[in-house]
Amino acid sequence: MRCEVARVATSQTTPDLDKGLFGIALDAVRTDRLPITAIGHGILQAKSLPKIIALLKHAMEDRISELLAQELVRQNSELKQVSGAANYVSTPVRDKSVTPEKYLNKPVFGHKSIYDDASQNPKEASNRASKRQDCLDTSTEENNEAGLVKIHKKRRLAASERGMGCESMYDSQLPTSLDETELPSTPDKKKQTTQPDTPQNVRVPTIYYGARTHKQLQQVIKEFARTDYCGQLQMTILSSRDYSCVREYDKKTWSSRNDMCRACIKPYTTKSMEQRADSNCKYYDNRASLNHQTLPPAFDLDELVAKGEEIRACPYYAARGMAASAHIVFCPYNYLIEPSIRSSMQIDLSDNIVIIDEAHNIEDICRDAATFTFTRDNIQASIKELELVCGYRFANQDSLRYVEYLLKALKGWDDWFVNQTPLINQKAITGNEATFTWAAENFVQTLNNHNIGQQQYKNFHENAELFCKRLREDPRTLLGVTQATATLIESIDTVLGYLFRCEGKYMDDFTPALVRTVTGPDSFSWRQSQFNKSIEKETLSLRLLCMNPAVVFESLKVSRCIILASGTLTPLISLHSELGTDFPLQVSPNHVIPPDRVWIGSLSTCPGGVRLECSARGAGEARVQDGVGAALRSVCRVTPHGVLCFLPSYTLMNKLVNRWKETGLWDELNELKHVLMEARNARDHSDVMEEYYSSVCGVRGALLLAVYRGKVSEGMDFRDHQARAVVTVGVPYPNTYDMAVKEKMKYNDRYSAQRHLLSSSEWLLVQAYRALNQAVGRCVRHRADWGGVLLIDARFSSPYYTQHLSKWVRNFLGNNHHTFESLENSSNSLESFMQTMTLRDSEDV
Ligand code: SF4
Repeated sequence: MRCEVARVATSQTTPDLDKGLFGIALDAVRTDRLPITAIGHGILQAKSLPKIIALLKHAMEDRISELLAQELVRQNSELKQVSGAANYVSTPVRDKSVTPEKYLNKPVFGHKSIYDDASQNPKEASNRASKRQDCLDTSTEENNEAGLVKIHKKRRLAASERGMGCESMYDSQLPTSLDETELPSTPDKKKQTTQPDTPQNVRVPTIYYGARTHKQLQQVIKEFARTDYCGQLQMTILSSRDYSCVREYDKKTWSSRNDMCRACIKPYTTKSMEQRADSNCKYYDNRASLNHQTLPPAFDLDELVAKGEEIRACPYYAARGMAASAHIVFCPYNYLIEPSIRSSMQIDLSDNIVIIDEAHNIEDICRDAATFTFTRDNIQASIKELELVCGYRFANQDSLRYVEYLLKALKGWDDWFVNQTPLINQKAITGNEATFTWAAENFVQTLNNHNIGQQQYKNFHENAELFCKRLREDPRTLLGVTQATATLIESIDTVLGYLFRCEGKYMDDFTPALVRTVTGPDSFSWRQSQFNKSIEKETLSLRLLCMNPAVVFESLKVSRCIILASGTLTPLISLHSELGTDFPLQVSPNHVIPPDRVWIGSLSTCPGGVRLECSARGAGEARVQDGVGAALRSVCRVTPHGVLCFLPSYTLMNKLVNRWKETGLWDELNELKHVLMEARNARDHSDVMEEYYSSVCGVRGALLLAVYRGKVSEGMDFRDHQARAVVTVGVPYPNTYDMAVKEKMKYNDRYSAQRHLLSSSEWLLVQAYRALNQAVGRCVRHRADWGGVLLIDARFSSPYYTQHLSKWVRNFLGNNHHTFESLENSSNSLESFMQTMTLRDSEDV
């Protein structure tokens, strides 16, 4: 086993990255709890990722001796540069009375939160740390015979998994019946206990691997299949019914596949709890036949579904079943981050390993997980459904208690909407919305006034848990209740849980807003709306905006370690402050691409020398729009196959296209390339991408106009000729007119000193450059790839604007700044780079 670890660590094609990863494995070997780790590197190759899994797995199963570790570091001097790893192995021989546990069992997650100020009150910080440790360990640690491995026995459902965090006031108040006997919220997930070749009292952790899309997971699984570990370790992949249900879906009968499934599957018969009766779904009845024996050792979602169709077994339930015994569980990362999904998919992170790929979005995902919007219409629809259930008193007698409670609570919410209406009616409408925001404590006061506030939350939570549990496990008893109602109740429960957690400690991390959205005739204006004339339809909604991602990230800390991996994590200062977590181990290797295979330059002028500044104001000018068009034409003329162009918004994209159609430039671009535009909705997007991928292979190639933060800019692979050039236009700052952005900026300015947050302007800068770096990263995808990047904006000729680019982009850019004329004619022109690389390609063939 030890030899295998060493071999994996030294036989990589990307030595910098993999030695960094080996450092993590060493840390895992030397500590029972691996610190939360951030890995930032120039490019993340999918084929390296399974090796993270492999290294961690081995590290957990077998401890490398100190001597072997020291020998490895001696042979690989680069390891000394890896923070954390080298420190351990270079530590002098310790006092024999100090066991490795005592020596290494230091707090790992950084018990300090952004709310704590240890310097002011160290005693309190220390109490908090020990309290948190108690919570994680649940007082049941045991040492094995050799005194090396601790076993962390877990509660069945951690408080944090209910979205409350470890110190929730509700933990101690939940009645025994809720925790122990009646319909617990999350059924027991069978824990892996021991492996055949591991000591009796060692539990091998499960690795949860989250990525943004199933497409990304497919790439990772493909690479996992190429490692020696495939076949030794069992895996599964989780997805929603939308992706994995194989039963024919009748849209006219069911509002969603979830509703159809709930109505089809049948739980235990009432006569015998031991025996399952056949359900209305034959795939469900046959789900057990789709298992690790009938599937290949590594399979992606497509293969799982294809096999399910072939043997007529349900892939959705089969995958969930396999998760109980799998060593590696692949899933979209929101399954790991959102408490409601974790609960419904029975994912228990305690003491397991979490890997989040493409983690540059982690702050946004965490904020979104605790942000919730619902309308008065949603409330009224759910009231109708619950009234129907209450009407069948005899049939639903065992669930009436909590259904009636929830019905009363939803009626309270409906009254709340009615009573808040005067507040919003006084507000002017901008666009088609009027907004009223409260300070969080004032909002909570309005809830208290309607008996749906802090005092009532404990009861609401208990009843919501019972209701959702019943819906999951015995849906026929609540016939007529849709998934929409279940989601509404679960979401209210989750968000209020965050709001009232720890006696309201996190309350000011939320901004509640009442929003009135109106639609009317084309000539509609806010003046008319004030008198309610001409309004055809209006919707009232409540938005509870979470400003602090640490609120959600806190609940992930029950895991043994968390690895955040991305090509664009930097600047890490933002991750520290926003997630309220220290990252003691960070690895940031260089890019894997050799310098002669990438050309990066910036463009600062239009033809004729006019300054080309693509700020929001500048991009509105016709001469700038013409300059961008001319630069794009120049790139398309010299670049073979695919060209991607990223723009700050769909609005600007449409403006540019209209202008170019007027000037004739649109036709010129179409002569050079097949021009496509990124679509806003998912279905059109797949059609556009299909057309693009087929066009890039042709002689003319294709140009795709896309937007930063869109579907093309993240999670899509454009390798080799699919993107030989990337053109970026402007610096993509978030839209400061957006309510969520505006409120976040206010929040950061208010608490920047107290909670060590970035100021609003720094935060905007980080957001802008993450999006920009992400877009640039579409160009070169593996070591043998090549391509050019043109940054269009005069601001890039100033160091202030280039210092925030990824390290590898900065290095390649150097002083390669161009005017329009030098871009076409200098010795270091894009054209000469393209010609050289095309020639090298043809010679290689
Ligand atoms: S049991 Fe499986 S196949 Fe049947 S409806 Fe549900 S998800 Fe679809």
